[in-house]
Amino acid sequence: MSENPTKRIQGLAAEELAKEFGTPLFVYDAQVLARQLRKISEALPVGVDVFYSLKANPNISVCGFLGSRGAGAEVSSLTELITALRAGVDPADIIFLGPGKSRADLEACVSAGIHAVVCESLAELQLLDDVAAARGAGRCPAVLRVNPGFLSKGSGLSMGGKPRQFGIDEQEVRRAGALLRSLEHVEVKGFHAYMGTRFLDHQDVVANTLNILAMAEDLATQLDMELSVVDFGGGLGVAYFENESELDTTELGEGLEGPVGDFRARHPDCRLIMELGRFLTADAGTYVTRAVYVKESMGELFVVADGGTNHHMAAVGIGSFVKRNFPIVHLGRPAARPTHTYTVTGPLCTPNDTIVKKARLPEVRPGDLLGIERSGAYGPTASPGLFLSHGYPAEVLVHDGHATLVRERDTPEEMLSRQHLAVFKDAS
Ligand SMILES: *Cc1c(COP(=O)(O)O)cnc(C)c1O
Repeated sequence: MSENPTKRIQGLAAEELAKEFGTPLFVYDAQVLARQLRKISEALPVGVDVFYSLKANPNISVCGFLGSRGAGAEVSSLTELITALRAGVDPADIIFLGPGKSRADLEACVSAGIHAVVCESLAELQLLDDVAAARGAGRCPAVLRVNPGFLSKGSGLSMGGKPRQFGIDEQEVRRAGALLRSLEHVEVKGFHAYMGTRFLDHQDVVANTLNILAMAEDLATQLDMELSVVDFGGGLGVAYFENESELDTTELGEGLEGPVGDFRARHPDCRLIMELGRFLTADAGTYVTRAVYVKESMGELFVVADGGTNHHMAAVGIGSFVKRNFPIVHLGRPAARPTHTYTVTGPLCTPNDTIVKKARLPEVRPGDLLGIERSGAYGPTASPGLFLSHGYPAEVLVHDGHATLVRERDTPEEMLSRQHLAVFKDAS
């Protein structure tokens, strides 16, 4: 077999990107971000708005790119809110969600005039009322996150039907009529429910969505309120592992078409939102590491790379006791025949820093580049990047065949700049 050409992202060779920006490196392909957003937007019934969940990848350019292509933003911290605003997302297309919002968070939401605060408890709703009163800026729109009485279908992480810190129990919402009517500075406009993550079967998503729509309608009737927003979550998955297959978005859209159409006929002015993180970003990202050493231990081959779980904890295995490998490619020879079995580890002093276990690859030599694919979601920010003080890696966005550094690599100086050496007067 002849030597294969190096892996390219929009025409740019991985080796060139690594030379320019160093490794370890996350490379995001904007074409793929756009493709995923288009794919789901076109599949969903007309009028369902897609919001990007920044939790999956809070890089401001990723958010800005998706925003420029029509996605709203679902944020869960003050910094995520500021990120979305600076990225150019219209406040009218931002919602703020999360169980532990502080008064300062709520003040920022009211100041920015976002589409809605998604309240996760009645106490939070009252705090929001208080904040909005103090600001005197008219009634602040809120959505109640409901912990549904029904169980979700098809997610590894199941929501609904069990005690949770998230949302307000459906039964409690049903009894909250008097409280809602008493709020003078907040207007509850609708409901939100999030049923879990990594859904790959469209039938589960359709079933959950129909349950949420029915619940929202029922709650609105019981509470005698206008239904202006229903956010039915999302959590659509991507196929990471060999035994998984992609979610069929066409089937998903077809499954939702009729029921969403009927719902729309009854609530023509109700905004429908689907919030997605992983589905939009996972496929767009490649984690690029360089093999530092290749060694053998008791008959097994190890590639020790310059980055590992410190930047990519998700690759250790998502909600699974069995280690399953993310797709990995030899970036120098992506199409060469796999001839060796390697366990790929990183720089941390812990055996858990194993990014890929016993993967079949072409021969890896020190200095070669490896790419962990489908790594655009829950990468650096969901990883212990400060462990062993390696710091966070650089991130690059490739758009129109041009690579832009969208996050600088941490340096020792920067990392240490936030620490202070105490003075020990009693030192000998
Ligand atoms: C994590 C989360 C999301 C995003 O989930 P994905 O699986 O990445 O799409 C959306 N909404 C809520 C409430 C979440 O907690």
